Amino acid sequence: MKLAATRLTGLGTTIFTEMTLLAQRTGAINLGQGFPDQDGPPEVVEAAAAALRAGHNQYAPLAGVPELRAAVLEHQRRHYGLEPEDVLVTFGATEAIAAALLALCEPGDEVIVIEPYYDSYAACIAFAGARRRPVTLRAPGFALDPGELRAAVRAAGGAARVLLLNSPHNPTGRVLTAQELSAVAEVCVEHDLVCVSDEVYEHLVYEGRHIPVATLPGMASRTLTISSVGKSFSFTGWKVGWCSGPRELVAAARTVKQYLTFAGGTPLQHAAATALGLGDEHLRALREQLRANRDTLAAAIAAAGWRPLAAAGTYFINADVGEDAAGFCAALPQRCGVVAIPTSAFYDDREAGRSLVRFAFCKRPEVIAEAASRLAGG
Ligand code: PMP
Ligand code: GLN
Repeated sequence: MKLAATRLTGLGTTIFTEMTLLAQRTGAINLGQGFPDQDGPPEVVEAAAAALRAGHNQYAPLAGVPELRAAVLEHQRRHYGLEPEDVLVTFGATEAIAAALLALCEPGDEVIVIEPYYDSYAACIAFAGARRRPVTLRAPGFALDPGELRAAVRAAGGAARVLLLNSPHNPTGRVLTAQELSAVAEVCVEHDLVCVSDEVYEHLVYEGRHIPVATLPGMASRTLTISSVGKSFSFTGWKVGWCSGPRELVAAARTVKQYLTFAGGTPLQHAAATALGLGDEHLRALREQLRANRDTLAAAIAAAGWRPLAAAGTYFINADVGEDAAGFCAALPQRCGVVAIPTSAFYDDREAGRSLVRFAFCKRPEVIAEAASRLAGG
């Protein structure tokens, strides 16, 4: 007897869980699932402890605690000059993505998504009864081709409703340029698409700069911008995220969110407000460390005889290993004592990702150095 619904077809266990289990089983260094091995700023941890003691232990308001909502609005204003009409606190960026897609897609709608894509996108599009229409980024440069973007929207034949954007981009490490984002904005305006913009790596940029798509002409009124404390402040386990944008889009996400989790993590929401209120020194130091880690790993990938691909942002770097990525990653723990992720898992076009492997570099410098020496020697 089949118990699970058909919408779960093909979802199984995420590649992140699978590869973390492989690391645990083999004792290899886990450069697969992206999570830091150091906590974020101690004063933010203290703020969480203080919030627990101060009695912030009951349901947060549906929209999030006022201090965090104000801090998100201030963050968007200070960094980008954006003044979103509304903001909703969510259970990590993951819930914001789910709520947005469930709120915006009719069954049968198409979602334009840039592949390789973060795995929850495909799942949430399926939960919404919609279909994904990928636009492919190809190695080595992973550029977004405006012609392919337009062709994808045309091919959707009027069914395209949402464009799901992610820059800085997981898993490629690309930071989309002003020209690429202009093409995205033009397409959204021309075809009346809503843009759901996942910007969780907004502060992890080493070359170029992060441009929120909502700052482009015609986009503030049609963009829901998503982020979280996971990457910028190294608290991936807190699952405090948010989305901001036009009143109507935020309200739609809020309507869904109230029946997913209603609210979450009241004391952590208070601490997240403290995190967003910190000066920029923490972000500068984090970037500096991550940039050094990236360079160490890129050199090791090259020394091992693989091709490192430029990563201007996020904490991921890809290598073209010249062979089937899934087989390569399955063998890597035995071969080098390192776990990585086959980037092919994030492509519908398996050929485009066939020989690409993603390494996470959000680990302590000594761990990265050890991984680098194992890879270079392997
Ligand atoms: N989007 C992308 C592109 C990510 O890499 C992640 C990290 N897992 C998320 C969303 C989810 O963020 P959160 O942990 O805040 O739910
Ligand atoms: N964002 C992280 C990654 O891409 C972790 C994802 C997860 O565990 N769901 O590796």
